[in-house]
Amino acid sequence: MRYAAGNAKIVCPCCQNDTFQKDYRQLNSRGATFFGLDWANRNATILVCDRCTHISWFMNEVDDYE
Ligand SMILES: [Zn+2]
Repeated sequence: MRYAAGNAKIVCPCCQNDTFQKDYRQLNSRGATFFGLDWANRNATILVCDRCTHISWFMNEVDDYE
């Protein structure tokens, strides 16, 4: 799949490939909770490059790219 963030197509910074597998990861950790960082309890979106497996992290949901 191809994705976009902020109206820009996402391209892998390592190999310039533009197809990714999307997944989600929890950002919270004991340290982040201790310091009261609310954003740290959110899910981050990750995109794993189909070609080189580089992982790109996004704080918000990414859009499907037509
Ligand atoms: Zn790549």
